[in-house]
Amino acid sequence: MSVNEKLQPHVGEILARILEPMGLDHWRITIKVGPCRDEENNERCRGSTHADPEYSQATINMDVEELETGEDVEEYVIHEATHIPTWWLHQAAEDLANAWADSAPKPLMHAIRKYAQEQVRRAAEKSVTDLGHSFLRLFRRLWAAEAEIKQLKGDLKIARKQAVPPEK
Ligand SMILES: [Zn+2]
Repeated sequence: MSVNEKLQPHVGEILARILEPMGLDHWRITIKVGPCRDEENNERCRGSTHADPEYSQATINMDVEELETGEDVEEYVIHEATHIPTWWLHQAAEDLANAWADSAPKPLMHAIRKYAQEQVRRAAEKSVTDLGHSFLRLFRRLWAAEAEIKQLKGDLKIARKQAVPPEK
């Protein structure tokens, strides 16, 4: 069994826990855990997300095998999911980059498109990474608090059973 096959249920579990709090529970999201190729340069990549906000549909492709040892699957899944709510902005920036390139004099067109698209890609990745880290921190606090509540409820149940009823 490959690492991707082994981790597929774990990725699904993480998504199931984060989509509702991230406001993405009404989206139709297709998840593929397996080899993934970058749309632009066709190189093998760790993850790629494509969203269609108009129809609330998205595809997340993750290659868990490409993660370095010690890298966090939760962080990685949250990062890909964070691309979804920021997609409108990413798309608008890309359209603007293309419009700029299209209006440039022909000899410069290719260079301007390449430059503008790289700027958009970098800005999108940086903001999604930062936002994803914020989500990750908040989720970790939420999950720790939920675990603590669960533990306390269990302790309370035991304490109630052991309590001696007051004498009348
Ligand atoms: Zn990304």
